[in-house]
Amino acid sequence: MKIEVFDTTLRDGEQTPGVSLTKNKKLRIASKLDEIGVNSIEAGSAITSSGERESIKAITSQGFKSEIVSFARTLKQDVDYCLECDVDAVNIVVPTSDLHLKYKLKKTQEDILNQAVEIVSYSKDHGLNVELSAEDSTRTDINFLKKLFKSTIEVGADRICPCDTVGILNPLKAFRFYKEFNDLNVPVSAHCHNDFGLAVANTLSAIEGGASRFHGTINGIGERAGNAAIEEVVLGLDTLYANNKTNEKKYTTDIKINQIYNTSKLVSRLTDVYLQPNKAIVGDNAFAHESGIHADGVSKNSATYEPITPELVGHRRRFIIGKHVGRRGLKERLNELGLESDDKQVCEIFDKIKDLGDKGKTVTDTDLEAIAEQVLEIDNENKIKLDEITIVSGNKIRPTASIKLNVEDSEIIEADVGIGPVDAAINALNKGINDIIDIELLEFHVDAITGGTDALIDVIVRLKQGDQIVSARSTEPDIINASVEAYLNGVNRLIEIRKKNPQLN
Ligand code: MN
Repeated sequence: MKIEVFDTTLRDGEQTPGVSLTKNKKLRIASKLDEIGVNSIEAGSAITSSGERESIKAITSQGFKSEIVSFARTLKQDVDYCLECDVDAVNIVVPTSDLHLKYKLKKTQEDILNQAVEIVSYSKDHGLNVELSAEDSTRTDINFLKKLFKSTIEVGADRICPCDTVGILNPLKAFRFYKEFNDLNVPVSAHCHNDFGLAVANTLSAIEGGASRFHGTINGIGERAGNAAIEEVVLGLDTLYANNKTNEKKYTTDIKINQIYNTSKLVSRLTDVYLQPNKAIVGDNAFAHESGIHADGVSKNSATYEPITPELVGHRRRFIIGKHVGRRGLKERLNELGLESDDKQVCEIFDKIKDLGDKGKTVTDTDLEAIAEQVLEIDNENKIKLDEITIVSGNKIRPTASIKLNVEDSEIIEADVGIGPVDAAINALNKGINDIIDIELLEFHVDAITGGTDALIDVIVRLKQGDQIVSARSTEPDIINASVEAYLNGVNRLIEIRKKNPQLN
């Protein structure tokens, strides 16, 4: 059975606290959604502002394959603005629960029903596809809800969507609830919120109950705890209901599954909503293995500890080096870092890593690299070297750093300010290396090893360039020097990896 995907990343998703997308960003996300096969894209809410309408118009003018939808209330003005934006469909949202009627709208069920019928007729008269969403359906009197759906279907509503606006269903209730609408003879959409972390589970149950479409967002962003994550629902449908023996699918979607990971990355980057590392399907750790037993199993047959392969969704497998690492995981990471080693060398590196781990130290990639290079007798020349750094800081001055770097035969001198001296130093450094490599700082961690103010400072950073992530450290008495050195170590490591794997460029 084909399940249709209604994406609301640009509407419900944009209602994520702190997220506001420019026209350009909306257009880029919409293009990607169209490219990966989303059936309906809710591009926004035309009534919101003229800027929002500009964004929706930019999207409708692209001639995408996806149906383009705008949100609308039961007001003619809302629908008129949708028409101005030339959308294919409207998602008319009608609050239906007593709670919403009494406190939000101060209206009766009858008022609401009449309004809904009127606005659906109006939209149909103007050639729009109509999805009728009943807000807070899961706290609405079921008889009234059915009456509302029937009356609006009679005047032309093409699809209905009973919404679990505050995420109070559980999977069994979702199954039973969505089953209630099977006899209405129009497609039913599920719209589940994630207040109890059940949006995806409830959406899957709704589909089992008879919903043939679902609303969701990329990465599950949205108001409060968010919406059903499209990538999780799609992979759930694809994998969890397939026949184990024949691999025959019970449910299919039009989504290009191998584009899931890069779509997630794009949305995360453009919305500035970062993903938790353990996020299902698309998180950094979704296919990462540290433990020796797991890493060993996975490298012999990935199915041992992975339900699906990372390649299926366009993600990649990572082996993390730590004290739980096994020889095989270590070898994989060395290969990823472009360091060729034979079995005997791997054993020697392995022993040294275990040693560090037993001393309670985190093993960063630069530690691994330093050990490996020693064992493999490689001399890696750091491309970028710190020559001079000067910091001015105090309580009545903006922290300022100037930095001199040696890059092969040339010198780079840069300066910048920052929140504090470390920030100023890293900003100046970033300015200096900007033309060489584009770096994103993922994590910055500082420890004072012995606890006193004269302690050695241990700085660990995690840096990212493209799809490559490395960790690096430096330990020095001076926090600024330690930070700059750790950062530079990571940068040099990334440059080295790029040099050894030119296909990554
Ligand atoms: Mn919603």
